Amino acid sequence: MTDTDWYAQGEGDIDPTDLQRRAERLESLPDAQPDEQGLVMLPVLPLRDAIIFPHMLTPLYVGREGTLAAIEEAHTQQLNMLALPQRDPDQDHPRNQDFLEVGVEVAVSEIFLTESRESAILVQGRRRIQVEGFARVGNALYARGRVVLGPEKADSRQEALVRHLMGQFERLAELNNDLPEDAVEFVLGLEAPGAVADTIASAFPLPLAQRHNLLTELDVSRRLEEVNLLLARELEVLTLEEEIEAKVQGEVERGHRENYLREQMRAIQSELGDSDPWTQELEELNARIQRAGLPDEVKAIAAKELSRLHQMPPMSPEVGVIRTYIDWILDLPWSEETEDNLDVKHAAEVLDRNHFGLPKAKDRILEYIAVRSLKPKRNRQPILCFIGPPGTGKTSLGQSIADALGRKFVRLSLGGVRDEAEMRGHRRTYIGALPGRILQTMKRAGTVNPLFVLDEVDKLGIGYRGDPAAALLEVLDPEQNDTFSDHYLELAYDLSRVMFITTANNREDIPWALIDRMEVIEFPGYIEEEKLEIARKFLVGRQTEEAGLEAGDLVFSDAALQAIVRRYTYEAGVRNLEREIGRVCRKVARLKAEGKKYPNRISPDVVEKFLGPPEFDELEAEREDEVGVATAVAWTSGGGDIMPIEVLLMEGKGNLQLTGQIGEVMQESAQAALSYLKSRAEEFQINIEAFERTDVHVHIPEGAVPKDGPSAGITLATAIISAFTGRKVRKDLGMTGEITLRGKVLPIGGVREKVLAAHRAGLKTVILPAKNEKDLIDVPKKARQDLDLHFVTHMDQVLALALLPPDAAVDAKRPARKTSAAKPRPPAGEPPATPGV
Ligand code: ADP
Repeated sequence: MTDTDWYAQGEGDIDPTDLQRRAERLESLPDAQPDEQGLVMLPVLPLRDAIIFPHMLTPLYVGREGTLAAIEEAHTQQLNMLALPQRDPDQDHPRNQDFLEVGVEVAVSEIFLTESRESAILVQGRRRIQVEGFARVGNALYARGRVVLGPEKADSRQEALVRHLMGQFERLAELNNDLPEDAVEFVLGLEAPGAVADTIASAFPLPLAQRHNLLTELDVSRRLEEVNLLLARELEVLTLEEEIEAKVQGEVERGHRENYLREQMRAIQSELGDSDPWTQELEELNARIQRAGLPDEVKAIAAKELSRLHQMPPMSPEVGVIRTYIDWILDLPWSEETEDNLDVKHAAEVLDRNHFGLPKAKDRILEYIAVRSLKPKRNRQPILCFIGPPGTGKTSLGQSIADALGRKFVRLSLGGVRDEAEMRGHRRTYIGALPGRILQTMKRAGTVNPLFVLDEVDKLGIGYRGDPAAALLEVLDPEQNDTFSDHYLELAYDLSRVMFITTANNREDIPWALIDRMEVIEFPGYIEEEKLEIARKFLVGRQTEEAGLEAGDLVFSDAALQAIVRRYTYEAGVRNLEREIGRVCRKVARLKAEGKKYPNRISPDVVEKFLGPPEFDELEAEREDEVGVATAVAWTSGGGDIMPIEVLLMEGKGNLQLTGQIGEVMQESAQAALSYLKSRAEEFQINIEAFERTDVHVHIPEGAVPKDGPSAGITLATAIISAFTGRKVRKDLGMTGEITLRGKVLPIGGVREKVLAAHRAGLKTVILPAKNEKDLIDVPKKARQDLDLHFVTHMDQVLALALLPPDAAVDAKRPARKTSAAKPRPPAGEPPATPGV
């Protein structure tokens, strides 16, 4: 502790009358008398972080012995003191040079005790003293300095500064309630411009450094300017503070006021017998809940949510969330039901009216209806799964079934659904949460027993946030689906009266647990004759009508339809066929609308005129038998397709390279085919060393995307053997079958699609594994008759059928249809190098 530890504080715990008395006494004390050189010598009152300006009256608390002693000394000598600030307030032992060069002479009262029993003095500032030196007398530090007196009267510049400053000070007094009321009056009464600057400077908070500057600024004009500037800044801050304060206050008040007014309005309205819009809205909502035919527990929940709404101010953000929830409850069907039409004859008519063929699917539906009509008590709904290539009528048959039964029809595509939450929704705690797609679709249905088609169950994604298939399992499980749970609704929803039909392209891609619950009905692809029939009976009529034409406006000749099937579409179903027919109809409609001449009868020429050059040309008749290219019939998600497999031999190191649409299983097949060939090299008259000097490059052109499987085995082997032996492969022949290392041919899947694809592509001969012969029942008779089908058990049989004799001349040009799979291939005809032959 040092004797420099002074600090100034408010006068909170000093008795005001006592203060008054002391102040009056201080007033009576004289200033120090300067000696003949104009200097005064005064004991130093060191100030840590307080500044005393002339004319300022302030109490100072005294902490330490040394300082108390210095004050005692001043008293005994009857001297004023020099209040001298130290530059650094934290310095405990200031030396001479650590003080400012300017201090203020102060009159000092005797030491007294405050109410909190601290020692204090009262000081009154008199005038600036510019210090010129220090002297130590006994224990006390004295400073000698020159009295600095400012001008008594302001010059005109100072006058201007003073007026401006006073104006600002009045403004300060308005904004700052802490200033004593008479402060302005006091300042206005001051004459000396320096005194105005000092008094005002001591009236608002300033950082210590700035107060030091003001104290040491002896030029009164500059001091006035400086105070003006500081005060302006202070006013700006105060104004801003006030604005912010007002704004915050305003916000708070507005909220309160609105609520208050709303309450008042409600009170007034109820007094008048009216109800306010919010109450009305809630009443309507209540009426809807009562009317909706909700099951008891659902109604209870809705009522509970409604009562929560009642307790909320209408502007609360939660109101929207609860309203949406109640709306969802009200919008979902809980009891609305359509009555099934279980007339089998009627159903058969409806199904035949809309769809050609599809006997298996239609029979199954009619059986279902028959059983239901005999046993109307609700029994388990069968879940049918329609599997087949696109455009084979799966979805549209679903619609027809709904028509036949008189049920509402809805469909939901599951393609790409990856999250369980998409199926089951998000909890209400999420912002913007909604029910999942199942319930959204039920809302669209509007009845509890629609016919619900779940499309593309084979395209369900498996995401990282739960498996959507799990939700689907629950939907389709008759044991569970009467209490389907949706995360948003949080109420059990009964799906047991829904009739579900699912559709898929590939059986393999359907999660097995799902397919287990369903009854699969295959939708085969159509052969050309069937397509023509469908076009004649259904598509043409539908499309002419869609184009706004009259029934008699337009007749498609059979040849025209055949041209569209053969040359503008390449598909297992009839979707593109229908689209192309639609395009022709629209062209005609446009001509008719424009009042131009239009053809009534559509011939192949008209088709070409309207649809442009054919996409799938019969040019392929030009195709020749080639070395190193064999045709596989493959199974793709679009049904089936033919797929050329090319093999090129190059000088190298015996590597096998595969490019194109090739999966892992197919690579293994290629490896197996090559191994088989090596083991039989002698029979094929291939020099065994040739394998080491040759790289085999297998390529499967893009276009058709085959399912990866081993069924291309015999085709790969045929192409490789052809390449090595230089024997050509018959172009009009397609094949499918797995090969073993010993050349045995194993059965494969998808026979029907593959045979249909071969038929569609115009192949003449198809080689199939002997074990697959039984699958032929599924193949339409027409296709079986048109194709030369061979069933084989060994690779030798394949080669005998597929390879032409070593020196066979190029076969007579055979017409063969180009296929989408047949993309340009490397310079054919030119037989690749056949080392070792
Ligand atoms: P999928 O659901 O199998 O992809 P769609 O049901 O969408 O096929 O059928 C595509 C179009 O082909 C529809 O306009 C449909 O009416 C028609 N279609 C398909 N098969 C037949 C058929 N056997 N008889 C009549 N129209 C058919």
